[in-house]
Parts: sequence; C-alpha cells; structure tokens
Amino acid sequence: MLIEKYSFRDKPTNIDEEGKRKWVYAKQPHGSWYTLRTLVGWGLLVFWVIVPFIRINGYPLILLDIPDRRFIIFGAIFWAQDTFILSLLMLSFVLFIILFTVSFGRVWCGWACPQTIFMEMVFRRIEFWIEGDYRTRRKLDASPWNFEKTWKKLAKHTIFLLIAIMMTNVFLMWFIGSEKWLTLIKEPISEHRTGLAMMLAVSGLFYWIYSWFREQICTMVCPYGRMQGVLLDQNSIVVSYDYKRGEPKGANAGGDCIDCRRCLAVCPTGIDIRNGTQFECIHCTACIDECNDVMKRTGQAPNLIRYSSAIGIEENHETIWNTRNIAYSAVLIILLGFFAYTIFTRPVIETNILRTPGLLFQENADGTISNLYNIKIVNKSHNKYDLEIKILSHDGRIELAGRGIPLNDQDLYQSTFILFIPADQITNENTTVEFGIFEEDKLLETYKATFIYR
Ligand code: SF4
Ligand code: SF4
Repeated sequence: MLIEKYSFRDKPTNIDEEGKRKWVYAKQPHGSWYTLRTLVGWGLLVFWVIVPFIRINGYPLILLDIPDRRFIIFGAIFWAQDTFILSLLMLSFVLFIILFTVSFGRVWCGWACPQTIFMEMVFRRIEFWIEGDYRTRRKLDASPWNFEKTWKKLAKHTIFLLIAIMMTNVFLMWFIGSEKWLTLIKEPISEHRTGLAMMLAVSGLFYWIYSWFREQICTMVCPYGRMQGVLLDQNSIVVSYDYKRGEPKGANAGGDCIDCRRCLAVCPTGIDIRNGTQFECIHCTACIDECNDVMKRTGQAPNLIRYSSAIGIEENHETIWNTRNIAYSAVLIILLGFFAYTIFTRPVIETNILRTPGLLFQENADGTISNLYNIKIVNKSHNKYDLEIKILSHDGRIELAGRGIPLNDQDLYQSTFILFIPADQITNENTTVEFGIFEEDKLLETYKATFIYR
C-alpha cells in the first residue's frame, strides 16, 4: 500500500517517544523578515507600555475598568449599558481575526500575539545574550553545575523574573489606570497584602510560561492555534516550502534544498517546514530568513521557503482572493460600518428611571398620589451638564432628592425622586408616565415608566 511508504507524525515535535518534553534549542534568527518583525514587535511593546500613560481629554487611551463596569477606548467611555456596542466590537474583532486567518494563516501569531512578541523579542533575546546561541545553550544545559553555568542561569532567571513583575504591573495599569497604580505603590504594603500576593502570583505565572512552558502555549494551550485545521484551505497564504523547487533534497541530489536542516534548527516550535503546513507553525518567518541565507551562499534564487499557498506552490502563482475571503470581507465591512454608525449616533445622555422596587403608592392630603423612583443618568460626552427632570405626560410635580442634576463629563448620576399626580388624572392601576430630561429649556431625552395606584 502507498501509505506504508510514508511516516506520519502522531505527536508534537517537542514530545519524545516516551511522552516526555523535548527542549527546543532554537537558533537565533537573522535576516530581513526578522528585522521587520523586530520593528513591529517593539512598536507594539512600546504601545502596550505607554497606553496607560496617554491621555485624551484627561482620560486614558484605553482603560478596562471591570469593577466599575467602565471601558475607555481611545478616550470614548463605554458603560455597562453599552454592552451592545462592546459586543459588536468583539464580534468585529473575532471576524477580523478569522478573515485574516483564512487569508494569511497564523499571521496574528507570528506578528502581533503578545505571547510570541514577549517570547521571541524579549525573553529569548535575553537568553541568546546571556547563554549564547543554540549549540552553546545545549552544551551549557548538559554540563555539570560550575561557576559559569551558575552565574548565567542566575542572571537569566533574575532578569526573567524582574521582567515578569514589570509585565504584571503594566497589565494592571490597563485595568486600574496609571494614576491609581502610582497611588497603590506609594501606600504601605500592609494595606495591600492581598493585591501584592495576587500580583506576585501572576508574575510567577508569567515567569513560568517564559522560562519553562514556552512554545507549548502556542502548540498545546492556545485554542486559536487549534482552529487552524478548520480555517485554512489550499488558498490560505502560509509559510510554505516550495517542494517543487526543493525536491529531491540533498547535496547534489537535483533539487534546490541541500538538506542542511538550518530551517529546522531556527524554528522556535521545533518543526520541519519541509513536511508541509503543520499546526505548530506560528508564522514567525525565521525559517524563511535562514533558508534565504543558505540560498545566497549556494548561489541560488531566494524564497525556497516563502509566504505562499498550497495552490500557489502547485500552480506557481500567488492569489489570496477567493469567494470565502470576499464574503468574509463584505460581512466585516458591514459590521464595522454598523459599529461606526452606532458609536457616532449613540445618545450622549442615557437615562434610566425605575419605580423603587417593593414600595407602593401613597395617597396624600392634597389629593395627589405619589410613587417613588430611582433615577440613573450616564453622561457619555466630555461636556458638563446641569439637568432638570420634568413630567411630560401628566399635570404633576417632581420632588428630587438633592438640588438639580449636576453631571460632570463622563459622569454617572444616581438618585431618587417622588412623582406626585392628582388622583383624578389616574384611571388605571398601572399608568404609563413620561419624563423629560432638560438642560435649561432644551429637551435632551424622554423616558417612560410605570405609575401605580390601587
Ligand atoms: S534551510 Fe533551505 S536548504 Fe536548508 S534544509 Fe531548509 S529548506 Fe533545505
Ligand atoms: S516553520 Fe518556520 S515560520 Fe513556522 S514556526 Fe517554524 S520557523 Fe517559524
């Protein structure tokens, strides 16, 4: 049978025959793709660090304030009431990722995923710097403990731990804001023992991931990585080995691949790209750079390994557009358009009025009936307001707890008020009443609620 001629992998490359972890000693990449990826990676790292310190109209560029259910994105504030808009944003983001995966494979993983950026651009570079390239590192790990091994391991792990603590604190600023974080660290530790313990636990997790767990996040844990099998097809642009040009491989065997295995040595997930598209490939492009260097040295044309599709390699053409890509793009554009429309047309003032639960009506000596209400007004704009609430549907009056409704920019107002309506105007047990929210004499919003009697 034909199938017996081939051997197929039934386990990840970083696991041995006995099911034990095989440590990947990846060679340090060099080349134009690596330079470009370094620029993109460091650009994203700088963005990630400075975001909590950037202010728009006095608000952080991005703040994910989960306890207060308040999200600030590019200076615009979203409250819990804006769940619809946030869901739309998340949906657009997921679709965007799917569209990109269908068209360009795991381009997100190789170029923008925080795991890859921290692993390849920060932690692995420190490892190269302290312990040397792959052969030296392998030798160092196999050697007995001596002065050199001790100081190198100590230096590396101390730096890893410090970076992990720094990472945790920057992430914390994304959730609580830089000002609150600065206040926290100035206060005595005794006041924040739980917070400190949590911060150290998360730092420990980051340290463990980058010092030991590493590529297993991409190959075993990340659900996105496991979805590649259903998202990729023959037209998807992935890092591909041109087998038509490369085979038969080997020195003087006839193909362009000299079987030097340098593409395998440089791979951070330990795979051989010459075996075709594999779920471990994170599109880091290191093998493209490495093979291009080999091609240059052997005087052959570059890009034996390149970004291409299965069809592109087979038929020697590169195309990325097919019916599925076009359909996904159309859905994405519609969704983004709807998202932009919803953002620009969302009311700047959002009112919520509910009858206070558990309380009945009251009959008053002046012949009126009264109900108690809770009122909540969110100001989503950067303007300040001095608002007033009036009853529009009936000839009644309102007594508000406190004086007026002052609203600062991006503010939340909460209070209670009593609505009095003459008894002769109430004909039903449940009457719909309409309120108006005014700024001076300008009606900003109306809101309907129920008024009960009997
Ligand atoms: S680096 Fe290029 S030439 Fe060397 S084994 Fe890989 S594909 Fe073949
Ligand atoms: S096969 Fe190439 S692109 Fe894929 S992870 Fe390995 S080195 Fe990176």
